[in-house]
Amino acid sequence: MKKILVLHTGGTIAMHAAADGDVEVGAENPLNQAQFDLPAVDLTIDNIFNIPSEHITPEHMLTLYKRLKDADKSYDGVVITHGTDTLEETSFFLDKTLDLTIPVVMTGAMRSSNELGSDGLYNFQSALRVAIDEEASNRGVMVVLNDEIHAARFVTKTHATNVATFASPISGPMGMITKRQIIFFYDLPKTMTYPIASVSKKIPVMKAYAGMDGQILSLFAESEHIDGIIIEALGAGNLGEDAARGVQELLDADIPVVIVSRSFNGIAEPVYDYLGGGIQLEKSGAIFARAVNGQKARLKLLIGLENGLSAGALTDFLHEF
Ligand code: ASP
Repeated sequence: MKKILVLHTGGTIAMHAAADGDVEVGAENPLNQAQFDLPAVDLTIDNIFNIPSEHITPEHMLTLYKRLKDADKSYDGVVITHGTDTLEETSFFLDKTLDLTIPVVMTGAMRSSNELGSDGLYNFQSALRVAIDEEASNRGVMVVLNDEIHAARFVTKTHATNVATFASPISGPMGMITKRQIIFFYDLPKTMTYPIASVSKKIPVMKAYAGMDGQILSLFAESEHIDGIIIEALGAGNLGEDAARGVQELLDADIPVVIVSRSFNGIAEPVYDYLGGGIQLEKSGAIFARAVNGQKARLKLLIGLENGLSAGALTDFLHEF
């Protein structure tokens, strides 16, 4: 019988709607009473947190990492339930830090436990089905909701309220779940992971916009209160002239600047050669992160800086697809 560790962290999947419809956190996780239509499986359940995922911080992610880093010695798979708002961040953090071959599957719900059409129990069962599937090993951290399997490295929350919210704009889902089957469409190459012991670095994310004022970036350069910055730049990774001058000030202050695209899909890469263009940003020392949005680039930079990576190793880590 497969041994699966279940970590409940909270989120809508653990909540209920009160009589007036407001969604609330309850003292008891309704998933603890769940009955499943599953092959025999040995579940170890730990209600490690019971919080909305907006309250999740890198400290909570670190706690999960520490709980899981040797999970393969005792378990055949792991399922983590989590609020959907920051689920992509926790899954990405664990994907970049855990070096496990057993399946690690995260899930959540858009509708709380007693709402009409609640998706929590169903998604939880789907996640357990993936965690015990023979083909699910060696795939990094996976996110399972709404009959789809996504890779943590590509998945993002795309809709504020719809149950079909999780998508992988660059790659598409890595698999699907039917009534009788778990189907994987493709294998992903293994990526670098780094262990992590602390999460103290301060790394804000700034979104670029037409007419972005470089002074906002200069303030960060002068304050010496940040360890790095992510800029969600325009298109393929470009900025206006004033913002480019602000980036230069950050780089002159030895603050790592990481460029991603503010576009929902695609990959930032240096293409344009003018002030603020990606080629000049890269020449001046900004690092392009590939295939990640701002919130994930932030975690990658955090993990890299916490590991004291050299400039070259940090660039390789951020460039990795
Ligand atoms: N606000 C909730 C959370 O992330 C949303 C959800 O779980 O769907 O905790």
